[in-house]
Amino acid sequence: MTKVNLGIIGGGQLGSLLAVAAKKLKIKTTIFCDDIDAPAKNYCDEFIFGDYKDDKIIETFINKVDVVTYEFENIPFETLSEINSKKKVFPKPEINKIIQNRFFEKNFINELNIKTTDYKFIKNKSEIIENKTLIPGLLKTCTLGYDGKGQFKLNSVSDLNNLVIDFSKEYILEKFVDLKKEISVIITRFKKDSYEIYEPIENIHQDQILRTSKVPAMIDKKIKNTSEKWAAHISEKLDYIGTMCVEFFIDKKDNLYVNEIAPRVHNSGHLTINSHNISQFENHIRAVCSLEKLTTKKLFNAEMTNLIGDEILKYRDKKSKDNEFFFDYKKKDIKPMRKMGHVTKIIK
Ligand code: AMP
Repeated sequence: MTKVNLGIIGGGQLGSLLAVAAKKLKIKTTIFCDDIDAPAKNYCDEFIFGDYKDDKIIETFINKVDVVTYEFENIPFETLSEINSKKKVFPKPEINKIIQNRFFEKNFINELNIKTTDYKFIKNKSEIIENKTLIPGLLKTCTLGYDGKGQFKLNSVSDLNNLVIDFSKEYILEKFVDLKKEISVIITRFKKDSYEIYEPIENIHQDQILRTSKVPAMIDKKIKNTSEKWAAHISEKLDYIGTMCVEFFIDKKDNLYVNEIAPRVHNSGHLTINSHNISQFENHIRAVCSLEKLTTKKLFNAEMTNLIGDEILKYRDKKSKDNEFFFDYKKKDIKPMRKMGHVTKIIK
């Protein structure tokens, strides 16, 4: 049998960890990325540098690979569709089209009768004032925002006087949730009614960036069951193939809301590399390459900490303890607020 060549679009830490998981399964990886210094260069078998809209590069990529997946959601829909017309893309491009726009994504979730925070589509300043019942709230760009980028916190309408908002972009205004906890559920769907689901992971954010993730999440059984049920329902309705993550808010009254869906492996699932027999990355590769679905089991409780900015330096210099696993994304430059690596501690 010839070796499968898996194409991965995007070469950040997720692409790197996917390439590492693929290697374990003896699957070749070709990464296509618009960053010449992408960290995944260090881990894949072949690297193609180019613009995601460059037809020639897209053609080269298509010709090299057997099946394609991606590590981030902001890839032009036209690019994914073009690739999908020649080689299968998982998850399918239509899913990405819904999820890369916060407004479409929230509409989709609400149509399934799954709760999100209240929200409204916003085109200009007066529409914010008309919807002031959503304040305190967050104004988020419909597309391209992550880790708090493209977001404005509004504590009162008067905050608008101090902000410069570019209304050539589209926004949603969403009500601020009085958070008790944040959790995520990672699920890998192989086909209809066939999936592996990881127990909810508890996440702590700082400045809207994920700081730590741990299992088990300290939540009651009802929230655990509902979050898992909703994640499974969303993946079925999307006819999803591969690993995805559903991020949830739990408010002080124990109401559960979906914050967002990530149509890909997710930072909060990094701990599964060490806590489970099969990581979110390996399961993703298994699903998109039509390999066997094995039963996923937790082996250990664990806590993962993201190393942000120059925090990485300390870890590069020290020897990890036996129960600590350090991952360096080998990004070229250290920048403040940039995720540079992570460390997972397993708890026996
Ligand atoms: P996001 O990019 O939308 O996932 O937001 C990043 C983080 O900002 C979330 O994980 C929360 O910690 C915080 N956040 C975003 N939206 C809200 C909200 N409506 N209410 C409270 N916190 C929020």
